[in-house]
Amino acid sequence: AWRSMKTLGHLIDGEHVRGASGRTAPVYDPATGQVTKEVALAGPAEVEAAVAAAFRALPAWAATPPARRARAMFRFRELVEARADELAALITSEHGKIRSDARGSVARGLEVVEFACGLPQLLKGEFSENVGTAVDGFTLRQPLGVCAGITPFNFPAMVPMWMFPVAIGCGNTFVLKPSERDPSAASRLAELALEAGFPPGVLNVVNGDREAVEVLLAHPAVSAVSFVGSTPVAEHVHRTASAHGKRVQALGGAKNHAVVMPDADLEQAADALVGAAYGSAGERCMAVSVAVAVGDAVADALVGRLRDRIPRLRVGPGSDPEADMGPLVTAEHLARVRGYVDLGVREGATLAVDGRGLRVAGGEGGFFLGPCLFDRVTPEMRIYREEIFGPVLSLVRVPSVERALELVNRHEYGNGAAVFTRDGDVAREFVSRVQSGMVGVNVPIPVPVGFHSFGGWKRSLFGDHAIYGAEGVHFYTKLKTVTARWPSAVAKGPEFSFRER
Ligand code: NAD
Repeated sequence: AWRSMKTLGHLIDGEHVRGASGRTAPVYDPATGQVTKEVALAGPAEVEAAVAAAFRALPAWAATPPARRARAMFRFRELVEARADELAALITSEHGKIRSDARGSVARGLEVVEFACGLPQLLKGEFSENVGTAVDGFTLRQPLGVCAGITPFNFPAMVPMWMFPVAIGCGNTFVLKPSERDPSAASRLAELALEAGFPPGVLNVVNGDREAVEVLLAHPAVSAVSFVGSTPVAEHVHRTASAHGKRVQALGGAKNHAVVMPDADLEQAADALVGAAYGSAGERCMAVSVAVAVGDAVADALVGRLRDRIPRLRVGPGSDPEADMGPLVTAEHLARVRGYVDLGVREGATLAVDGRGLRVAGGEGGFFLGPCLFDRVTPEMRIYREEIFGPVLSLVRVPSVERALELVNRHEYGNGAAVFTRDGDVAREFVSRVQSGMVGVNVPIPVPVGFHSFGGWKRSLFGDHAIYGAEGVHFYTKLKTVTARWPSAVAKGPEFSFRER
């Protein structure tokens, strides 16, 4: 029946197009389990058309004065702000997260748009008078060309806004391939960009799956690829696009640890853990999925507090203003996360809170799973080693802060890490030695603001640049250094040796 429903197509060269691949995928409302629309899945022809549109738009856009590009960005900022509630509702209806959280994610994306409004300042070069006698040197930061962005389901508006505002603000043109599971918000953003005055072809959206991605990764007219998603795909994207000579940043999965010291404010730590583990049903790359309790006394106290708090969480449709946590994104993902809970029990962890029996009144067809808490998890268990990406918190007991650091640093992922303590020495040592890209001190989800940069270490990021902020500007531009002198100052006759300046 859903084949007769509304189909979300592509937005290429300023036009909505249905595409001719003949392939589509269903889009669900996770709170009901019902299919609400279908999304067109691009084949090579649609990707080709989007890249061609971006390539045609490039020369004029790259030559547009940065201040004029910034003016369009200001208008875009105003439009997104004005439509933030509408965007949040769209996100909730396809992703499932609660409305206030969806609204917050739009606000965090807007921070990057605001940063991009100031790009002319960051595109300024450096100038040195007299690098030699009557010779001057200066630098330019020029756009790369057509850039591609491939984004995950968990932040359908924010992660695209980590990429394209900086890319197009720097004078590039862009092809965005959003997640096929919740594609509507990205298309809406691209419509608003057109309304703001970005010329057709500057920001294109192709919907699709891996087939579209593979075409982008190999396309000779694509200069750079930004990817955010799971680690196996990030690694594949990095390897393939690099082999095709592109600049690549590929952000992957995570297993974020929060270390709780005996001197921490345990009430604050327990509140932080509940929000960071179960907010957005754990479908955040910065979710805390491992609590590391230093000492059994801390562990017992924390488990007690978590067991008090978790049953008070209200799980329901994201559109319900009373809900704290919504459903998971798809039935398939729900089955995968439930499978991990079953696995943890088989592996011998203590399931201190079991969310598998949850029933949501009126949400029987929805993809709901209640919050789960495992105690006495050990580093050999798969529920510890692997990213679950659901409302499952694992507690590991360690005897000392030294062991806690060892544990965090041995994990293959290094996205975020946090320490809860009142001891400045411990916090400083942790910040200095922890092998992860983003660190919180009594802050559970240390997502950098738009004028800093986001990026993990180890197998959480492949490539050399973090995303947005100054790192984003460096990623989306290439450096040119000019050395110039003028005829009146040129010495007579050829020179055959380098000279001391
Ligand atoms: P995913 O890797 O399945 O998909 C991400 C994107 O890649 C989607 O657009 C998808 O269509 C495409 N894709 C999927 N499989 C592909 C394949 N085999 N070849 C080419 N393209 C493919 O990720 P997801 O499930 O949408 O998102 C969740 C993951 O994203 C989690 O692992 C999470 O940690 C990660 N994530 C990381 C960050 C970060 O900043 N590091 C941020 C958000 C999400």
